[in-house]
Amino acid sequence: MLIASDIQKSFGSLSVLRDLNLTVEQGEIISIVGRSGAGKTTLLQILGTLEKPDQGTLSIDGISPFALSSNELAKFRNEKLGFIFQFHQLLPEFTALENAAIPAYINGGQSKKEVDKRAMELLDYLGLSDRAQHKPSQLSGGEQQRVAVARALINHPSIIFADEPSGNLDSGNATELHNLFGKLRSDFNQTFIIVTHNPELAALADRSLTMTDGQLISAK
Ligand code: ATP
Repeated sequence: MLIASDIQKSFGSLSVLRDLNLTVEQGEIISIVGRSGAGKTTLLQILGTLEKPDQGTLSIDGISPFALSSNELAKFRNEKLGFIFQFHQLLPEFTALENAAIPAYINGGQSKKEVDKRAMELLDYLGLSDRAQHKPSQLSGGEQQRVAVARALINHPSIIFADEPSGNLDSGNATELHNLFGKLRSDFNQTFIIVTHNPELAALADRSLTMTDGQLISAK
């Protein structure tokens, strides 16, 4: 469960988030829409603990991430949160399997064999078992984004944050990715907070919120 309370963020004199409040339950899919420059990415970065708010509090599964030391925060983020961006950000020199496994390698605590087994199971679940040994340049755009999904899932995250996850995909691959998010929610009760301009993806959400004047307004 995520609770963000009275979040404020400014860049110089530009006030982007103003006393913003959001509560997200486990298993919910939340979409955030809004005009360009409204502050959607800034909000996602703060909820994903990648950027600190100027004021306000954030709690994820009962933990206040911004009260942690920077090492503890990095560990918390890697263990508890998954990220999917518009551009997959896979590492070109590593295979699909290695890319999917990276957050678990970083975590430690499991043998490479165990991690690779989990990564392979995820790739299989995502229809990529025959692509496991391919480098990103040998994969299609849709396949690359599904490897990024596997990477986001590898540590059983409490929440996946996705910023325009289908923004770089053609409509067929975008629809496939959107259906996959729905399947992950039904199969694993996976929570998603998604920033998107895509109406199909926004429609899939349990709650679609619009960023207006630094706050979130319920859109349905
Ligand atoms: P888009 O839909 O175009 O991606 P957005 O709603 O995600 O936009 P943000 O990227 O959150 O908007 O940016 C909100 C505002 O804050 C914009 O005016 C942007 O220029 C500004 N901004 C974002 N990051 C910074 C920064 N690091 N320094 C200064 N200004 C910033």
